[in-house]
Amino acid sequence: MMAGQPVIILKEGTERNTGKDAQKNNIMAAMAIAEAIKSTLGPKGMDKMLVDSLGDMVITNDGATILEELDVEHPAAKLIIQVSKSQDKVVGDGTTTAVILAGELLRLGGELLEKKVHATHIVSGYKKASEEAQKILEEMAKRIDEPKKEKDILIKIASTALNSKSVSNAKELIANLAVDAALSVLEERDGKITVDIDNVKILQKQGKSLSESRLIKGIVLDKEILHPDMPRKIENAKIALINRNLEIEKTEFDAEIRINDPLSVQAFLDQEEKMIREMVDKIAETGANVVICQKGIDDLAQHFLAKKGIMAIRRVKKSDMEKLAKATGARIVSNLEDLTADDLGEAGLIRAEKIGDDHYVFVEECKNPQAVTVMLRGASKYTTDEAERAFVDAISVVRDVLEDKAYLPGGGAPEAELAVKLEEFANKLSGKEGLAAKAFAEALRVIPMTLAENAGFDPIEKLTELISAHGKGQKYVGLNVFTGEITDMTEIGVIEPLRVKKQAIKSASEAAEMILRIDDIIAIKSSEGDKGGQAGAAGMGGMGGMGGMGGMGGMPGMM
Ligand code: ADP
Ligand code: MG
Repeated sequence: MMAGQPVIILKEGTERNTGKDAQKNNIMAAMAIAEAIKSTLGPKGMDKMLVDSLGDMVITNDGATILEELDVEHPAAKLIIQVSKSQDKVVGDGTTTAVILAGELLRLGGELLEKKVHATHIVSGYKKASEEAQKILEEMAKRIDEPKKEKDILIKIASTALNSKSVSNAKELIANLAVDAALSVLEERDGKITVDIDNVKILQKQGKSLSESRLIKGIVLDKEILHPDMPRKIENAKIALINRNLEIEKTEFDAEIRINDPLSVQAFLDQEEKMIREMVDKIAETGANVVICQKGIDDLAQHFLAKKGIMAIRRVKKSDMEKLAKATGARIVSNLEDLTADDLGEAGLIRAEKIGDDHYVFVEECKNPQAVTVMLRGASKYTTDEAERAFVDAISVVRDVLEDKAYLPGGGAPEAELAVKLEEFANKLSGKEGLAAKAFAEALRVIPMTLAENAGFDPIEKLTELISAHGKGQKYVGLNVFTGEITDMTEIGVIEPLRVKKQAIKSASEAAEMILRIDDIIAIKSSEGDKGGQAGAAGMGGMGGMGGMGGMGGMPGMM
């Protein structure tokens, strides 16, 4: 009955992309992202300079950082960026690898689509290959029983991650700092190790060189001791952590006090002084000789504290208060009435130190020795920022290995091994799924090839050598990008956490599967207003392949 009458569901003019077009479009966007960061992979990768519209810049070769800074519009490209972000968050490394791999999985997936293999088959083939890859990596990994005793291995793990950072001249130092910091915050229960990186406080300090960076066992606050009469150094510190103002609280509304005779003025001031004095007495009674306050401490309170020989610091960040509580065993108190000797924390030594023009307070020999601070020095904010990113990467991979007790060779060895083993696996699968699994195996070759290419070697030649070695069962063989040799990576100390590689492959595969499954892109109403139509890569001139992504704007609803 309805024949011939079109039923209109979408508003006229709605942008819509269906079937092949939609798939092609998404694949191209994801590949553009992968292409953009390809040249940063590995120790010989290049840096990127990211410049925003205000002229602020970041120089980095950290995949996650680059992608985070990119102002990307295309939904599929955004999806890929999500992958790198979560890779960075969960395991701390392998972001570039994950994105390049996702791009390659999509490129080869696209070729299969062209050959009329349905997306469903590609997706299920990729899924199977990806699961098999996890098993192969587990089998391939080297195990360590007591990782905390294998400092050597941990340093190599950190150094491998740092190879591709622009802090190479301070590599050894940062690797050592990361290992020492990770071991300091390590907790072990029933043989299970956890390393909570949040327990490591990072303090950047400009001036001097990166090589002056150091690890302090304890917490360092970039604060000054309040009053010149207060002690600069206290041994056996008893610390009160206070979360309220040490002053007479002002009323919320304006109050006017009329005083007619001078005696009352004095009485009024005396009263205020009495209240402050009582506060300080209350603190002193508990035996505290250090007061660390999250809020303000007024002049009068400072004066009384100094008279009692109590050291005081004010306006300390909440996150530092929490770290101090953990490190010293103190309880943060907001009502002075409640403060007792039990609430005080302990530290063997608290001292003030001036570094350059800045004042610091060092809280050392804490009751709980697990609290550490890493002070990163560097000529400029760019250096210390990049040093912090490098340090976080290094400590993350050290954590991964401490917790999992397993590592893999680097230099493309796991990818080459997977390429060989997954091809055998694919041959056992039927028809189209098998084709997809084969594509998956092939996609992994992009990593060793890119490493070779970025280091200036012939990618095909190196890959052929690598694949043939793995075909002969040489599992740990990879490409040494500094010499071009195809050698055992564990022997030259290029090793990485098992967790990083497993996660990179898993998330790359999941992203590719998700994108391949989409066959319809519909622009829907935006909740944050239409930003559409702008070229995504504004200001990113020179990053090939990013052009032409602008036209897909206006679809933020897809995310
Ligand atoms: P990602 O963001 O994926 O970690 P990187 O730019 O950090 O990317 O590069 C990591 C790759 O570099 C890994 O495959 C790692 O094994 C490799 N790599 C690191 N050091 C070396 C080396 N000396 N020789 C060969 N490959 C190396
Ligand atoms: Mg890395």
